[in-house]
Amino acid sequence: MLHTSYIEISRSALEHNLNFIRDFINENVLYSSVIKGNAYGHGIEIIVPLEEDLGVRHFSVFSADEAYRVKKISRANSAIMIMGMLDKEQLTWAIENDIEFFVFNWERLHHATTIANKLGKRAKIHVELETGMNRTGFPLNDLPHIAHYLKQNIKHLSFHGLCTHYAGAESIANYYRVKKQMRAFNRGIAKLKQLEIVPRLFHTACSAALLRYPATQMDMVRVGILQYGFFPSKEVLIDYLTKTKRKKDPLHRIISWKSSVMDIKHVKTGEFIGYGTSYFANTDMKIAIIPVGYGHGFSRSLSNQGRVLINGQMVNVIGMVNMNMMSVNICNTKGVKKGDEVVIIGKQGDMKLTVASFSDFSDQINYELLTRLPSDLPRITVV
Ligand SMILES: *Cc1c(COP(=O)(O)O)cnc(C)c1O
Repeated sequence: MLHTSYIEISRSALEHNLNFIRDFINENVLYSSVIKGNAYGHGIEIIVPLEEDLGVRHFSVFSADEAYRVKKISRANSAIMIMGMLDKEQLTWAIENDIEFFVFNWERLHHATTIANKLGKRAKIHVELETGMNRTGFPLNDLPHIAHYLKQNIKHLSFHGLCTHYAGAESIANYYRVKKQMRAFNRGIAKLKQLEIVPRLFHTACSAALLRYPATQMDMVRVGILQYGFFPSKEVLIDYLTKTKRKKDPLHRIISWKSSVMDIKHVKTGEFIGYGTSYFANTDMKIAIIPVGYGHGFSRSLSNQGRVLINGQMVNVIGMVNMNMMSVNICNTKGVKKGDEVVIIGKQGDMKLTVASFSDFSDQINYELLTRLPSDLPRITVV
C-alpha cells in the first residue's frame, strides 16, 4: 500500500440506506443523489458507479468541476445537475453535455439563452427561487418576468425545474422559517400555473426536509447525508425514533478509515511525548505511532482527545496531532505489533468508532468532518 491510510466504502451499507430512503419517499418521486463535496468525502468516482448499479440515475453536484468528474465516469443515461457555481465558459460545456443547472440570476439566464442559441441546443435549467434562506435564488416577484422570458425563449431553454432550498430543516428551531419558505414556494407554484407555464419538476427537499416535512418531496428529492448513513442532526434521528417507536439508528455507515501501526516506542516516566509539553508521562509508557495527521484530515483539535481502535481496543491519542503522524497510548493493549491495523473510523472486533463520536471530540459536524477527508486517499469498495 503506497498510502499511509485508506478508506473503505461498503456497498451493502449503501444499498441498505438507499432502500431505507426509498421507503420514505412518495411514489413517483425522482431520487437525486447529492454528491457535492466529493460525495461528502466518500469519493465521487467510487459512489457514482455503485449507485448506478443500485438504480440511481440523477446526481446533484455543486460546481462544474464536480459535474465534469461525474460525466467522465457515469452512464450515458445518468443525469447530472449543478446546483451552484458555473461560470460563462463552463456554461458552454454544461449545455453541450446536457448537464442540468440551477439558474438563480438574470445574468446566468441570459448567458444560457445566448450560448444555447449558438450551440443549437436547449439548456436544461432549474429556476431557483429565493424563499427565505437568503442565499441564492430569484425573488418571487420576478416570476411573471421569468415566465414571460421562458416562453419567449422556449427554443433555447428547457424548463426542467423550479426549486428552492430550506434554511435548516434539520432543526426544530427553524420550524417557522421552513414553514414560511414552504408557503412561499407554493405561492411560486400557483403563480406559474396561473401564468400557464410549468416545469417538468418541482423540487425542494433535502434529507431533513423529506423526513420531517413530507409535503416538500414534490417531484424530486435531493438527498445527501442520509445516503451516507447519517441523520442530518441528532434532532432528526430522535424525532424519527420517537415517531416509529424504534430504538436504533436504522442507517448504516458506509465509510471506514484505516491505517496501520508505523512504530512502537517505550517512554520513561517524567518525559514529555511529542511536540512541546502537552503530554507528560506520569509512568513508564508504551506508545504506537500512527502515520496519520492533520494533513490527512485528522484534526489537530483531536490532540490528547481523539481515539482509534487497535487490536479491537479503543486507545487514546496522546500529545499533539502532527501533520503526518500521531501517537496513541497502548499501555493497556496487549500484543500490538508494527503493521497492525488501526481503525480511525469504523469497526474492529466488537468496537466501533463512529464519525459522530469523532465529530463530538473535534467539535465538527458530520458534514464537515466527512468532506475534509482528503480526496487523494485511496478508496476501495468492500461488501
Ligand atoms: C447539500 C444540498 C442538498 C442535500 O442536503 P442533505 O442535508 O445532505 O440531504 C440538497 N439541496 C441543496 C441545494 C444542497 O446544497
